[in-house]
Amino acid sequence: RGRVEFNQVHFAYRQGTPALTNISFKVEPGRMMALVGPSGAGKSTLISLIARLYEPSSGIIRIDGMDIKQVTMESLRSHIGFVTQEPYLFYGSLLDNMRFAKEDATQAEVEDACRKAYIDDFITALPEGYHTIVGERGHRLSGGERQRIAIARAILKNPRILILDEATSHLDSQSEAYVQKALEELMKHRTTIVIAHRLSTILASDSIIVLKDGVVVEQGTHEELLIHN
Ligand code: ADP
Ligand code: ADP
Repeated sequence: RGRVEFNQVHFAYRQGTPALTNISFKVEPGRMMALVGPSGAGKSTLISLIARLYEPSSGIIRIDGMDIKQVTMESLRSHIGFVTQEPYLFYGSLLDNMRFAKEDATQAEVEDACRKAYIDDFITALPEGYHTIVGERGHRLSGGERQRIAIARAILKNPRILILDEATSHLDSQSEAYVQKALEELMKHRTTIVIAHRLSTILASDSIIVLKDGVVVEQGTHEELLIHN
């Protein structure tokens, strides 16, 4: 039901140095894994492999125990949600755009997904709500609004695995908090989440403290924390 497993995965683009070297990890259903690192670290590449945009040069990727090479396109399409930094919105109504993820979705289902993504208020404030034409040359939306619509669109599909590639990078802190709540809700329903983020400010800091429940769980320089993990 959404387990993602990498076993000694290597990947190199056509004529380049390796983009990923010996990657192994497992994410259980309903858990979230964050990919953090500077630009060029390989985050997008790793995520693209989960979405099967590329094939590993060697090693095995398993989705629910099945080699990803054996997973059908139909299954990938229906079980994996993929939200990128600059999500595309088609020239068409917001309803059309949402239905791209789930063709037969009723308006009520679409509205429900928008509520879960906490964007229903923002949508009903559009000139014609769900019927507003968005996308290229349609109603102008900010980068953050586009990302939040793309996240709602992914939620509509109720995917087993949701992949977010820098998908919260345009968001203000209020919107980011809403997205965080939406992701927690999805995890309760056993969706597995992989999220990549550049976090350049953090990586450029001289020291880092990781807090959880009021306790310091990690403390040190970026390099020291890397050695620990
Ligand atoms: P990140 O998402 O962490 O910024 P990427 O996965 O985009 O990192 O990039 C990892 C490495 O692979 C970089 O060296 C980058 O230049 C290279 N790379 C990324 N995409 C391509 C591509 N389409 N062709 C060749 N090299 C690429
Ligand atoms: P973070 O910055 O990581 O969101 P905070 O330091 O704001 O965490 O909050 C930690 C905890 O303390 C939270 O449970 C929050 O509800 C509580 N809290 C924050 N500010 C106050 C306050 N002024 N009075 C009482 N509780 C607070």
